[in-house]
Amino acid sequence: MSKTYIPSIGLEVHVQLKTQSKMFCACPVAFGEETNSLACPVCLGLPGALPVLNEGAIRLTLRTGLMLGCSTPPVVKWDRKNYFYPDMPKDYQISQFDLPLCLDGGVPLYDLAYPKDAQKTIARPGKVVPLTRIHLEEDVAKSTHHATFSTIDFNRAGTPLMEIVSEPEIDSAEEAVAYLNSLRQILVYGGVSDADMEKGQMRCDVNISVRPPEQKQLGAKIELKNLNSVSAVRRAIRYEIERQIDCLETGEPLIQSTRRWDDDAGITTQMRTKEDAHDYRYFPDPDLMPVLTGTMLEEVRPWVPELPHEKVERFVRDYGVTPYDASVLSSEQVLADYFEKAAAGATTPKKIANWILNNLLAVLNEQQLGIADCPVAPEKLRALVELQESGQISNLQAREVFADLFVSPDQDPARIAQAKGFEPADTGAVEAFVDQAIAQNPAQVEEARGGNDKMLNFLTGQVMKLSKGKANPKTVSELLHARLRG
Ligand code: ZN
Ligand code: MN
Repeated sequence: MSKTYIPSIGLEVHVQLKTQSKMFCACPVAFGEETNSLACPVCLGLPGALPVLNEGAIRLTLRTGLMLGCSTPPVVKWDRKNYFYPDMPKDYQISQFDLPLCLDGGVPLYDLAYPKDAQKTIARPGKVVPLTRIHLEEDVAKSTHHATFSTIDFNRAGTPLMEIVSEPEIDSAEEAVAYLNSLRQILVYGGVSDADMEKGQMRCDVNISVRPPEQKQLGAKIELKNLNSVSAVRRAIRYEIERQIDCLETGEPLIQSTRRWDDDAGITTQMRTKEDAHDYRYFPDPDLMPVLTGTMLEEVRPWVPELPHEKVERFVRDYGVTPYDASVLSSEQVLADYFEKAAAGATTPKKIANWILNNLLAVLNEQQLGIADCPVAPEKLRALVELQESGQISNLQAREVFADLFVSPDQDPARIAQAKGFEPADTGAVEAFVDQAIAQNPAQVEEARGGNDKMLNFLTGQVMKLSKGKANPKTVSELLHARLRG
């Protein structure tokens, strides 16, 4: 490569909303049901069937807009996007053209949302990718292609689909990954969608153009389709940037076109060019009234949850955990909730955080369980950590107690410790050792009395030795303090 080129990437993300029923009829939204069992005349696009708006879907979209700082036009409307395709027999998709539910706003890119190997070299930490719009439309049916024929399942037809369109201001494949992961995290937080790409609940098209640095306007926009996972998005973008640069270097013209990502081959291939680009002939759907958004927006506002980055700030401020730990804890709402329940009223919430991040998650991972399935109640974890913090059991012993607790979560951590013989050495014995240490080291005792902390530490060490390491250093130093300085 002779010079540096500037890639401009924009993402169009389709998200299936978590509603009970479909966008324009009362058919339930469900997966894995018998083929074509969830379809009515509206789903099938039969002549004369009339759509009825799903208010819940509108509210979820408005909630998303509020979470992402979008604005909403006072009146929004519905338009027909006309095209023929076997999985959409009425020959148009009901969508929103010039008055969508949300405009502007942005998606904050979280550090931990970048690919692991790219988290140390984030080009613009704290970047927010601006959005163009978010609109609401209906999903189409699902076709399956067999050797000599195709089948269509209408169960998916009419599922509320929210389309989130970003500005072409993503600079790299790694930022695109961060965008998708951050967006998913926010959507899940908001209860808007499960946004699982592997399940097709979140689908992504990518626009990429590349231009030399001296050129102001963007290069030819090339769209990538068929990206079914976050890792596919990353690989496809990296491939496509290189391909476009090669074209520019060798003088091959780049034209606006749509390409398909071949995940197995790891390449993109041309599907269609600008010449046969669609002209959708949008026009307002005469069957649907425009929607006034003012009142609904105010009703939705209280449902906007605390967002991951807001939680991170609060955890750092209120619990004294590091920003990194706070980010891991906030990566999932369930995990954040677990931590907060465990930390409630704890002497050192930071220790609770450490315990969750260093031990609990590792055990869950081993057992292939999510935090939602953690058998140990947060209150029990707090009791265990307090047991360790008060010096009654060591870190190693605490982990043993936890292993037992994991199997029989109804038990009491203190009881388990007791049953295992993890009782702290009794105070009487420790006091005897303290007496002994004081008697054996008169010079050091004098200095310690006079305020020499080093000598106090030395004496603590002596008592520990006498107890053969069984005494709790915290108790010993407290006893010594009381005796020499009290
Ligand atoms: Zn239906
Ligand atoms: Mn769309």
